[in-house]
Amino acid sequence: MSYDPSNIFGKILRGEIPAHKVYEDDTALVMMDIFPQSRGHTLIIPKSPSRNLLDADPSALAAVIPLVQKVANAVKAATNADGIRVAQFNEAPAGQTVFHLHFHVIPAYEGVALGTHGAGQADDTELAALAKDIAGRL
Ligand code: AMP
Repeated sequence: MSYDPSNIFGKILRGEIPAHKVYEDDTALVMMDIFPQSRGHTLIIPKSPSRNLLDADPSALAAVIPLVQKVANAVKAATNADGIRVAQFNEAPAGQTVFHLHFHVIPAYEGVALGTHGAGQADDTELAALAKDIAGRL
């Protein structure tokens, strides 16, 4: 299957719909997941168009991983999480729901089970505060 630019992250990258942005440069956008699996769930979205890891340009992958690491550390510091899960899904049977490559940074808290993937929508005020806090630590 080929990349379809009408996906929701494509729309966010083009500024057509709003997002709780944490960081943006020429190669990537970082934003809060609005249906978080835990407090502080953040997404790293390379701007280079690909459905997922399988069809991505290797140079885009090489460029984004250091940013994933940076965001993981910033999210851990901002949330006081005890651990960080980095996840990435390829095609619907594997759990992918938005078909533009992205990496999940999901804080894990000791004794707290992670929520279901993409369950309830988070509070806008809380997401805005988290985005600001994480941005300040990048
Ligand atoms: P995946 O299942 O890996 O494709 O993940 C897509 C993620 O995007 C899910 O965790 C959703 O909660 C999240 N998501 C969907 N729509 C939006 C949106 N408009 N803004 C932020 N995150 C979103």
